[in-house]
Amino acid sequence: MAYRYVRVVDVQGQIYYGLLNPDRTIQVLDAPPWLTGQVTDLHLGAEDYTLLAPCAPSKILAVGRNYAAHAAEMGSDVPVEPLLFMKPPTTVIATQQPIIYPPPSERVDYEGELAVVIGDRAHQCTPEQAASKIWGYTIANDVTARDLQRRDNQWTRAKGFNTFCPLGPWIVRELNTEAKLQTFVNDEPEPRQQAIVDQMIFSPAQLVAYISQIMTLLPGDVVLTGTPEGVGPVVVGDRIRIEIEGIGNLENQVMAPLTK
Ligand code: MG
Repeated sequence: MAYRYVRVVDVQGQIYYGLLNPDRTIQVLDAPPWLTGQVTDLHLGAEDYTLLAPCAPSKILAVGRNYAAHAAEMGSDVPVEPLLFMKPPTTVIATQQPIIYPPPSERVDYEGELAVVIGDRAHQCTPEQAASKIWGYTIANDVTARDLQRRDNQWTRAKGFNTFCPLGPWIVRELNTEAKLQTFVNDEPEPRQQAIVDQMIFSPAQLVAYISQIMTLLPGDVVLTGTPEGVGPVVVGDRIRIEIEGIGNLENQVMAPLTK
């Protein structure tokens, strides 16, 4: 089994990066692993922590219409260069934390995506250089208020609500290009989304190289690589589970906002 790199909070509120063992205990690292964090003598028991999102990005870059079949279902052509947008870091939540359905929207969609985590400063990289800046892979749900995306003509509001970027559950360093991505809603046996990550139009290295011509990517930053076809709406109470072979499952339930 591949090493699983996690970020956790213990019962005292202390945040750690660590390595998740098969028995769910954690070997604590002394720094984020992409900043040469080393294993320490500290271990956390399986009941002694809660998973956080596996990194704390300074920014999250995302790409629209990076699978041809999804571009078609949105009534769009495949872009000739990556169509970028950003999600603020405050969208990030961990697996098992609730997605809050925002009152301004009446149509919130899941978007299962492969996420790459940057391990080293990336500025004006070639695709070959960019590949070496990718530290690992995790899973994201690019939650989108579809009605607001259509109404606003740009995507900041639709993509930017708090809790709109479930991320995790952990990072692995290697990913098979034939890995299957699937999105499930509740206990439905059939996936709503199913694709091979290699079907994306612009590869992770091409995306990182392209973004690095515009802005410097920093260690811990995240790039969402786009969603395959099969996006669809959620309602309060739905559980969305995104699986990528070789990584694991990211699962979050949609909840109504707390009334004031
Ligand atoms: Mg997306």
